[in-house]
Amino acid sequence: MTGSKTENKYRIHYSNLFWITLVHVGAIAAIPFYNFANLMTVLIGVFILAPLAINLGFHRLIAHRAFKAPNWFVYFVATFGAMMGGGAPIHWAASHRIHHQFSDNDGDPHDSRKGFWYAHMLHLFETTVEESDGSDIKKYASDLLADRYLVWLNKNWMWFALSALPIFYLIGGWSMVLWGGFMRLTVMWHVMWLVNSATHMWGYQTYNSKDNTRNNWWVGILAAGEGWHNNHHAFPSCAAHGRKWYEFDLTYFMIRILEVVGIATKVKHPVEPNAKKKAHDGLVA
Ligand SMILES: [Zn+2]
Ligand SMILES: [Zn+2]
Repeated sequence: MTGSKTENKYRIHYSNLFWITLVHVGAIAAIPFYNFANLMTVLIGVFILAPLAINLGFHRLIAHRAFKAPNWFVYFVATFGAMMGGGAPIHWAASHRIHHQFSDNDGDPHDSRKGFWYAHMLHLFETTVEESDGSDIKKYASDLLADRYLVWLNKNWMWFALSALPIFYLIGGWSMVLWGGFMRLTVMWHVMWLVNSATHMWGYQTYNSKDNTRNNWWVGILAAGEGWHNNHHAFPSCAAHGRKWYEFDLTYFMIRILEVVGIATKVKHPVEPNAKKKAHDGLVA
């Protein structure tokens, strides 16, 4: 499917190569300008705001429909995710749904059988779903293409990502632009990418998810619950990724708070925390 398009013809994704390189160079340039406020900007951005925008918004709400939320909230997290540098939400969701369908097999956009660095970031330098003829997006994200705001945001997300930079400048000058923009994005990307690389290689399997996914404790902590990835592949549209008491899942905690205040409804809670080693995806949207 998707893989077949790139199998015969390897094409470099030049814009990803340019932007990802630029952001990493910016992060290295930020190092001499360390101060406490800049460090806190990175920590809050990566460990609190990114889980809200990307894990809860892009991933569990938009891609997997693990709960329902009013449109204003969907648009808020999608826009905030774009500002955080998460990219185009519909492309993100389509690519992610393809990943679940072909996990660690032909067609997986970040097939971990091709090695850690391929799954982690090198796949981003190949042409991706957004470069294809659009048939994958229609097939995997037709529900999202029906939403006019998300379609608009999908085209214009870059402006939102860039809009964060003047905000950092106003708060803390050029050094905070380097830290809040480039350092934060670099750290955030690598944390997110570990979910595609490390948790498809290292850790324990609770469920037979028919792929290489693992529950990895340190990615579980770094990525606010997304590191319990074997659980997630076994139950893709479950709102909780952590299933055992020690599998702390900050993102699920946020969803429960939203449920208490009435923003999240029809939350797909885990129904059988001690389920037998049997994967089912009956909840998949
Ligand atoms: Zn995965
Ligand atoms: Zn997922």
